[in-house]
Amino acid sequence: MFRETRGNDGKKPLSVPFSFALLNPSASFGGLYVPETLPTIDFAFLKEATKKSYKELSIDILKLFKIDIEDEVILEAVSLYDHFDYPNNPAPLRQIRNDLFVNELFHGPTRAFKDMALQPFGHILSHLAQKQKQNYLILAATSGDTGPATLNTFADKENIKVVCLYPDGGTSDVQRLQMTTQQSKNLKTIGIHGNFDDAQSALKALLASPTFNASLEKSNIKLSAANSVNFGRIIFQIIYHIHAYVALLKQHSVTLGEPFYTIVPSGNFGNALGAYYAKRMGLPIEKILIASNINNILTDLITTGVYDLRKRTLLQTTSPAMDILISSNIERVLFDKFGATRTKELMDALKNEKIYTLNPEELALLQEDFDAVYCNDDFAKESILTFAKEGYVMDPHTATCLKAYEQLKTKPLACVLCSTAEWTKFAPTMYNAINQDSKKYSDKEALEGFSQALHVSIPTCIEQLFSLPIIHDKVVAKDAIEKEIFNFLSNSIKDNA
Ligand SMILES: *Cc1c(COP(=O)(O)O)cnc(C)c1O
Repeated sequence: MFRETRGNDGKKPLSVPFSFALLNPSASFGGLYVPETLPTIDFAFLKEATKKSYKELSIDILKLFKIDIEDEVILEAVSLYDHFDYPNNPAPLRQIRNDLFVNELFHGPTRAFKDMALQPFGHILSHLAQKQKQNYLILAATSGDTGPATLNTFADKENIKVVCLYPDGGTSDVQRLQMTTQQSKNLKTIGIHGNFDDAQSALKALLASPTFNASLEKSNIKLSAANSVNFGRIIFQIIYHIHAYVALLKQHSVTLGEPFYTIVPSGNFGNALGAYYAKRMGLPIEKILIASNINNILTDLITTGVYDLRKRTLLQTTSPAMDILISSNIERVLFDKFGATRTKELMDALKNEKIYTLNPEELALLQEDFDAVYCNDDFAKESILTFAKEGYVMDPHTATCLKAYEQLKTKPLACVLCSTAEWTKFAPTMYNAINQDSKKYSDKEALEGFSQALHVSIPTCIEQLFSLPIIHDKVVAKDAIEKEIFNFLSNSIKDNA
């Protein structure tokens, strides 16, 4: 069962099953749902896991959470991993240096790690919607990767409509095309003037708006969200951290119980939260190293205990999925460590004063599990070049992790770097990095140039984007979003009639 990070308002239920948290992700006082208790995994579990496929391991872990989803549906959901590049292993672990391993999380249909969770999540959500004979509108705000992955997983799903908001100019061509060329009738993509935080806050406002909810109710449509605040996504993001350790065990890179580092390029902190829960469940993670770009609010929080939005404006970088200042999932760590009353206090302070400060004891507790560092775009490009020369291609988000590898990995332990995207989503930056120039290449030009220079192939799903018709060309102001959504809903109701 699940409870709320900011306590209960007396209107929502005190404790809810997984399916409820998945369908209704916003909890009392704007909080989030978290598991009442975390299951544990012991060394015997990990040892046993070395004999299992990714799919089997996923099922075992999901069972530990005792979620209220039928076994058959869970099996169908994790079977979606069969469509990834390597059917038996959606998340291959590659060794790139003696002590450095890459957990490649981008082998799904939209080439970013978001597929790892959104593929099975989408199946479970549409199953629940159909079972309840209820129509759902899924709202997603994206900085570039959640959008394509959400649209992909819900394409043509019954009882589900998706509206995806992206910051115009804040994504790569490939990411934008992955959204604007979506043909399925139940999907809608809207560009907004503003940055990702604007998109996310517009989404949160809609989710919380009584008038918006009331008009949806009239049309018998319920609202839900597929953003990484949804625990239905987090649960799948715990699995691949455990799987990485199992893969290390299998290849004898660690002995059973030996700790390892993991480095996570972070934005909304969903991926890192998965690592945190895995650690709390018993996975021997020495430290979770949080990598950021110059939007380094998480570095500040983890190294100083201060989360200060007052003087910050969002900066555009070459790792746009990490261009985030309001990192939603950190709240779940605060709850886990300090409880609901304190979490509400901190989150209220952030809302009202744009700053919160952990006391020294709290900071020490946070630092038991996390350390953090950030890098700028030049550092990321140099890292891309260095590793390209060694024969390994990593995307600009993954490349931010190398700073943590150099500076924060203080013990001679194995280190797993979470690779969150395929290079093809950020081709101009990749091509700049290997050419050591700052020319403005188009995605198409850079894709071809880079793939020829380094003899790496471009998957068909990326290549074909450039010849598909653009279906969604609207870019609107924040206050016009609600109207756009209603237009879409009334048109698609007409279509159905
Ligand atoms: C979403 C994303 C991130 C950030 O992940 P969070 O879970 O939001 O911290 C990092 N890199 C890429 C490529 C992403 O798509």
